[in-house]
Amino acid sequence: MSASAESAGQSPSHTRQQERSASAEVIAASAGESASAGVVAASAGESASAGVVAASAGESASAGVVAASAGESASAGVVAASAGESASAVTTGPIIGSRKVYLDTPSGLRVPRRRVLLTDGAHLDVYDTSGPYTHDEPDIDLHRGLPALRAGWSAERDADAASTNAVQTQLGLARAGVITKEMEFIAVREGVSADLVRDEVARGRAVIPANRCHPESEPMIIGKQFLVKINANIGNSAVSSSIADEVDKMVWATRWGADTVMDLSTGRRIHETREWILRNSPVPIGTVPIYQALEKVGGDPTKLSWEAYRDTVIEQAEQGVDYMTVHAGVLLRYVPLTARRVTGIVSRGGSIMAAWCLAHHQESFLYTHFDELCEIFQRYDITFSLGDGLRPGSIADANDEAQFAELRTLGELTHRARAFDVQVMIEGPGHVPMHKIAENVRLEEELCGEAPFYTLGPLATDIAPAYDHITSAIGAAMIAQAGTAMLCYVTPKEHLGLPNRDDVKTGVITYKIAAHSADLAKGHPHAQERDDALSKARFEFRWVDQFNLSLDPDTARSFHDETLPAEPAKTAHFCSMCGPKFCSMKITQDVRRYAEEHGMTSPDAIEAGMRAKSDEFAQRGGQVYLPVVGP
Ligand code: SF4
Repeated sequence: MSASAESAGQSPSHTRQQERSASAEVIAASAGESASAGVVAASAGESASAGVVAASAGESASAGVVAASAGESASAGVVAASAGESASAVTTGPIIGSRKVYLDTPSGLRVPRRRVLLTDGAHLDVYDTSGPYTHDEPDIDLHRGLPALRAGWSAERDADAASTNAVQTQLGLARAGVITKEMEFIAVREGVSADLVRDEVARGRAVIPANRCHPESEPMIIGKQFLVKINANIGNSAVSSSIADEVDKMVWATRWGADTVMDLSTGRRIHETREWILRNSPVPIGTVPIYQALEKVGGDPTKLSWEAYRDTVIEQAEQGVDYMTVHAGVLLRYVPLTARRVTGIVSRGGSIMAAWCLAHHQESFLYTHFDELCEIFQRYDITFSLGDGLRPGSIADANDEAQFAELRTLGELTHRARAFDVQVMIEGPGHVPMHKIAENVRLEEELCGEAPFYTLGPLATDIAPAYDHITSAIGAAMIAQAGTAMLCYVTPKEHLGLPNRDDVKTGVITYKIAAHSADLAKGHPHAQERDDALSKARFEFRWVDQFNLSLDPDTARSFHDETLPAEPAKTAHFCSMCGPKFCSMKITQDVRRYAEEHGMTSPDAIEAGMRAKSDEFAQRGGQVYLPVVGP
């Protein structure tokens, strides 16, 4: 088995190609080695849960799920990394009831959409993050990676930059008035004008995370004028999961709507895990480089140095990481502000940097070398995600002085990065009660020049471990309505353990609900189309359309079929919740039909019906309780 690129001592400037082949070897070897982990997961835990969904949804043939070894989804469902390598299976094929279509941009770019096909002959196109994995007949080879969609674009960008003297980042070009191909793609994807995209990027209110070395990604935008985005965290730890599991989670998360994925791996083979994820990811990938830098110095924060960190950033930049969390706002003088907190410093990156600052009694090297970092980010067009290392980890610590002191420093760093034409977003909390949420957005916008806010939840209460996807989605919906541009999902395993595949899906769907609710509240021009289509299908008892228009068709269908599995129930004018006699929607339809047949309006019909019932009541003697009549 080959050593990893990093442990083989390759220079941080080695090429992406070299890294790829190195890591390809590693995964080939590690697939065998981790076969037990992967296969066990697939054939026992994972397929048990996902397989049940597939089976109950009757979906194994069309959409497929899970692992080859589960023996399901024979036609489309699974793609393994190589023949016989079932450990590296990922889910492929369209989501049930829909298929991939493409819209053309003015210059011929093809923008993916997911077309939900309805039983009344209509269709609805929805935003799609799933990449080529959801084609009818996907041509996926995990070793080869996805097609390099943006391969020629950066060369053209360079030409644009040369003609305008602009710095060749999306921000630099936007400021120079250039509409890049990424912006053109995004405009069609969001259903807005390309000028709006360019203007929002130019003023720093939106970012396009798109490293030049990640050509496989489909351009997307994060900004308050656009659809609220969600991020899914994946990544193995020292004690759990394998590379194959993490690649599968990335594909799985984007299938259900994750707009970006953060690889937070901290265990062995960080480099290889990231390489496999990047080459196969249709969405931007974010990382926290300090995690890998810490691995390189044996896990001792006090041994970290600017040089070790810088080399790690360059290594990840070369691989194609699109945005990086940098906890440069954790300053030495802020650390004592956390002393009286209930939960101290809960951010991993924040606690690492606080430990370094205290051990050396020096200012953070992330802060003192920030301009050098900007130069690196500019070269690759990486977006800063300025980390909230001092975010509150409990309701008691929300909106305290430590949190807002760091936010002020993040504001200063935002302006420094923008001077280099480097894009910036700001990370936010955490744990915040509902009445303190809006204040976070107001301050962030004021201090950080309206840079896109990217928040983790926040959890609106601390009392529900195992349900923190819900406690946090409440805060997430509120903070998104107030202006947050991207929400980092929380899974049911938050605070308890590493999320598995099912947790990833639950987290993604939960956060799609929060994000979409905010889109509706903010009046995004197209947001309500899907709600209207689903409501209409519901009222017309088009059950299959109702399932297929939902965020999670498989679960919607399986819940319905739990009590009414027969096929005729898919057109029945009731469900098992109220039953046929008390179905209020059927009664409303009856009223409307009665009105139509008698040339009345619905209120007239209701009045006439009420009068008839009233007469009937009087004729029966006006008794509230009638004697029971035997059969
Ligand atoms: S039975 Fe009740 S829940 Fe079911 S469709 Fe009718 S009104 Fe809705």
